[in-house]
Amino acid sequence: MSKAYMKEGRLVVPDCVTVPFIEGDGVGAEITPVCQQIVNKAVSIAYKGKRSIEWMEVFAGEKSYQKNGEWLPEETMKAFLEYLIGIKGPLTTPVGGGIRSLNVALRQTLDLYVCLRPVRWFKGIVSPLKEPQKVNMHIFRENTEDIYAGIEWEQGTPEAEKFYAFLHDKMGVKKVRFPKTSSFGVKPVSVEGTHRLVRAAILYALQHKLPSVTLVHKGNIMKFTEGGFKRWGYDLAETEFSDVTFTMNQYDQIKNTLGEESAKAALAHAVNAGKLLVKDCIADAFLQNTLLKPEEYSVIATLNLNGDYVSDQLAAMVGGIGIAPGANINYQTGHAIFEATHGTAPDIAGKNIVNPCSLLLSSVMMLDYLGWKEASVLIVKALENLFESGKATYDLARFMPGGTALGTVEFGEQVIGQL
Ligand code: NAD
Repeated sequence: MSKAYMKEGRLVVPDCVTVPFIEGDGVGAEITPVCQQIVNKAVSIAYKGKRSIEWMEVFAGEKSYQKNGEWLPEETMKAFLEYLIGIKGPLTTPVGGGIRSLNVALRQTLDLYVCLRPVRWFKGIVSPLKEPQKVNMHIFRENTEDIYAGIEWEQGTPEAEKFYAFLHDKMGVKKVRFPKTSSFGVKPVSVEGTHRLVRAAILYALQHKLPSVTLVHKGNIMKFTEGGFKRWGYDLAETEFSDVTFTMNQYDQIKNTLGEESAKAALAHAVNAGKLLVKDCIADAFLQNTLLKPEEYSVIATLNLNGDYVSDQLAAMVGGIGIAPGANINYQTGHAIFEATHGTAPDIAGKNIVNPCSLLLSSVMMLDYLGWKEASVLIVKALENLFESGKATYDLARFMPGGTALGTVEFGEQVIGQL
């Protein structure tokens, strides 16, 4: 068993690396083996046997509950902590008390502060957009703060009453319209939380030679939380990355002091010098703009709730839930869990029709994260070829003119054949 580890802030990956995996509930049992076979084959072709992945199964969700009565056993957590990099299929959310969501528990325990969702279009896949080839975005969604922190009180409880009394009596808040029947939630957004997310987004953009980072927020309404996110994001770019970025905040400052022509000249100069443009956009306008002019956006840095909405809209623009990959990452500790972004799809489980591409493209992200780009490229090319020739699982093929719907297993075999 060989572990990946961090040395002086960099990830070190042994040639034979052990990767813990959770098979996943429902369709997890179908997509996980297909993806592992494809990844194994791509790695073996790319490195001619010099590199390999040793898959180590760990348990969570229904499979774990049936095995030992625990939804998320301690050993699973330990394995992810120890081996740094893991991958998971979808998990059933337990109904009733106890754990709210296994995914949230994993993210919080490992402090996986970035939820990274790359969004690109594959030729052949039918999209609701006229020019889907213009979509190439990378969403950095903050994963640990915001209204997702789970700090809320239900209306009618003594806690909600106590919280309102504090607001009213100590904080002088008189604006709650129906205090007796209101539930309350708290939205923490911090400087550190924003800085580490925006730093990761900027570093990613620089590393991948991408043109811009857009801070997406509702700072016009939530001035100190979402507005803070925007201000702190700009501050970070201007202090830590002053030589490689130009921000629209700087543009506005120049415009206000020296006039619009000078600001435009400074922007043109920065773009010519290859600097990364850091800009911002109000969340509602952003959702419109991504449909109308997607080419204007590249890396997106946003808060937790906005990130949730944005991820689903962008996924729908390029083929939907079956093909959207994702990862939860802590770039400081190196911990990363790659995952299928869809659920357990109980309505199609066991029918050999589920699309394995969300987990497969998450595996591609994992190979990139390991630095094994030669293998990931092979898988992406194989998918490009198949989609272009109209071959896909039913969820995508049914919309393709003359498309051929393949079963999950057959689709996996075709990908392997293309490698
Ligand atoms: P779902 O994503 O499982 O299914 C929604 C719809 O999309 C269904 O019609 C399903 O058939 C279809 N679908 C999903 N993935 C597909 C794929 N790969 N290929 C083809 N079609 C696909 O969402 P749900 O039904 O709301 O949730 C079912 C269970 O999954 C719940 O217990 C929920 O809590 C859990 N869930 C888990 C995760 C996760 O582990 N990351 C995410 C979402 C939901």
